[in-house]
Amino acid sequence: MRYVKNSIIDRKVPFLDLRIIDDKLRQDILTAIEKVLLHGPVVLGPEVYELEKRVADYCSRKYAVGVGSGTDALFLGLKALGIGPGDEVITTPLSWIATANAIVLTGATPVFADISDDLNIDPDSIEELITERTKAILPVHFTGKICRMDEIMKIADQYGLMVIEDAAQAFGALYHGRRAGSFGVIACFSMNPMKIFGACGDAGMILTDDENIYNKLKALRHNGMVDRTKCIEISLNGRMDTLQAVILLEKLNYLDDIIYKRRERANWYREMLYDVVILPEEKKDEFDIYYTYTIKTTFRDELMHFLNVHGIETQIQHKCLIPLQPAYRTCAKGSFENAKGLVKQILSIPVNETLSKDDIYYVAGCIRKFFSK
Ligand SMILES: *Cc1c(COP(=O)(O)O)cnc(C)c1O
Repeated sequence: MRYVKNSIIDRKVPFLDLRIIDDKLRQDILTAIEKVLLHGPVVLGPEVYELEKRVADYCSRKYAVGVGSGTDALFLGLKALGIGPGDEVITTPLSWIATANAIVLTGATPVFADISDDLNIDPDSIEELITERTKAILPVHFTGKICRMDEIMKIADQYGLMVIEDAAQAFGALYHGRRAGSFGVIACFSMNPMKIFGACGDAGMILTDDENIYNKLKALRHNGMVDRTKCIEISLNGRMDTLQAVILLEKLNYLDDIIYKRRERANWYREMLYDVVILPEEKKDEFDIYYTYTIKTTFRDELMHFLNVHGIETQIQHKCLIPLQPAYRTCAKGSFENAKGLVKQILSIPVNETLSKDDIYYVAGCIRKFFSK
């Protein structure tokens, strides 16, 4: 094997690396944290509002509301739109469980559409699921690739449905010149540490252009309180920490570089692996950020084991479709045959920006070696 230079035994390629190893970024963060510790307001301090403004600008939206997590963002976002018992929300069966949990927690019913080979919701499977109870479509930009939003927006327009983007995995991605988070009536982000634009703890954000929704969201993240005395709706405490906000403000300065590096690693994989497994594909006018680099093969489990033996950590995101989870036995509807097949083939391989070209070549070399047997 040309690409496997180092000894197999001691080489390790981790899937994730949550350390902040860039000395300058770490110093910038420490300085910013010290500022917060000295000025006091550690919850919803001025830096949260500064971050909201910068994120709204970045995604070309009018308003942003910082919340405690991506799950908060989805749950409070759905509540702000008045979605609740009796309503149906069409979404994807392949996502992090939080997407559907947020729907169920409002009292609404998730209806699961099918997915396409790009692992995102298949717009062609949505229409047949629409009933008089359907209120919204909740697409997830899975793996950091934006869904086919022109088709989804068209269906939503035609049937008078709201669109809520779960853009948790796609901060910075583009589709036909537009950013993730710029399509839906609201869009939800997670900034948990695993996300590419991640804090050092849980954080999330909701974007909208609608002033009424914006005002409602500000109350909803604060137990439904509009001021110190008046509660307009029963809700929870989902405010963003100022400490996470300052970390994110510093990280935002590095984000373009991080995305550039992930795309560079994706390109190296493409060059090395195009003829052995099914790779993620970028169409014209798409700009994916590779939250995960997810390949497809019918030898998935064997390949995963082989890579593990060679020190390469991989993940299956996710092994079980949401509607097939035990907790969803009684509350899931829909039809998703293609998803059932695809979920057996997916494998996410390391694409972290901290990995070297040598690391990526080692991973690719091991995959080639597996398929040459
Ligand atoms: C991470 C994630 C969430 C939830 O975000 P948290 O901040 O962990 O609550 C929701 N949806 C998707 C698609 C995610 O990847």
